Amino acid sequence: MTVNASTKSLCLLGHPVSHSFSPAIHNAISESLNLNNVYVAYDVEPKDLQVAVKGLGALGFKGANVTVPHKTEVMPYLTEISKEAKIIGAVNTISFDNNRLIGYNTDCIGFEKMLIDEDVSLRNKKVLILGAGGAARAVVAACITNESAEIHVCSRDIMKSQTYINAFDKYATAKQLWKALTYSLIEINAGYDIVVNCTPLGMHPHEGKLPIDPQMFSNGTVLVDLIYNPQKTEFLLQGERLGMKVINGLGMLIHQALEAYRIWNGNTESAEFVRKALSEQGIK
Ligand code: NAP
Repeated sequence: MTVNASTKSLCLLGHPVSHSFSPAIHNAISESLNLNNVYVAYDVEPKDLQVAVKGLGALGFKGANVTVPHKTEVMPYLTEISKEAKIIGAVNTISFDNNRLIGYNTDCIGFEKMLIDEDVSLRNKKVLILGAGGAARAVVAACITNESAEIHVCSRDIMKSQTYINAFDKYATAKQLWKALTYSLIEINAGYDIVVNCTPLGMHPHEGKLPIDPQMFSNGTVLVDLIYNPQKTEFLLQGERLGMKVINGLGMLIHQALEAYRIWNGNTESAEFVRKALSEQGIK
């Protein structure tokens, strides 16, 4: 990759960002497509977010990704917000188009495409979502748009899960059943088709921790963990030992990045290409 006076800039805004695979993904795509872009990760403290976003516009950046803790806080600084990002209530991708700063959310499509790759459908399924944070919103949005039959959201605080599902009420179909839960209320063998861990339990600094005991579910349940580092969390390892199908979050990361790249550049690479590029850097 040659950086010169015509190079267009892309970046990640987060805090922290040192763990991110996004520079590896986006720079590999630019190189493969022979596009003169460079992608850099910037650690931006919350107090500096507004000035950072303004600065990117002034510097002629083509686009940016936004990660924790800025995904919701960035929204007031944008001129337009896509429909998906409005439903989810968070932005993970910004495109800079002259004076327009357009916010998108590609996590939902990333989650959907990851499941499609694994031959798992959300349609008519009973889904349990663990954790009521930012990423869980994209999972809930995918369940709504793919017409899951039942969507159960579990938080450590039942009031929080209730408020959370109330916020989605206007987007759901009349047939969809919702339940707000806390961990002590999850029933054994409740017939979940898919259980999604949207908490940080299992990744640094919570390695080895479980969001819930997989033995609570039948072995026909698909366990999904949005965490991709480690490749298999304790949740997935235990589920696998019980004979369950398990899926980590790498596919979601890859597909959300591909979609962001397409928004900025009009074309993108394949998921297979990105998997191979990451695997060459030891990321599987
Ligand atoms: P977040 O907004 O901080 O939400 C995480 C939620 O997990 C919290 O809202 C909390 O829910 C729950 N939680 C936090 N600490 C916990 C603990 N000690 N015990 C039990 N529950 C706890 O984070 P996020 O952005 O949603 O990310 C969640 C996970 O998804 C992270 O591991 C992140 O790396 C991963 N992720 C992956 C992708 C991908 O592309 N694969 C994309 C985004 C995020 P309650 O307060 O409701 O219990």
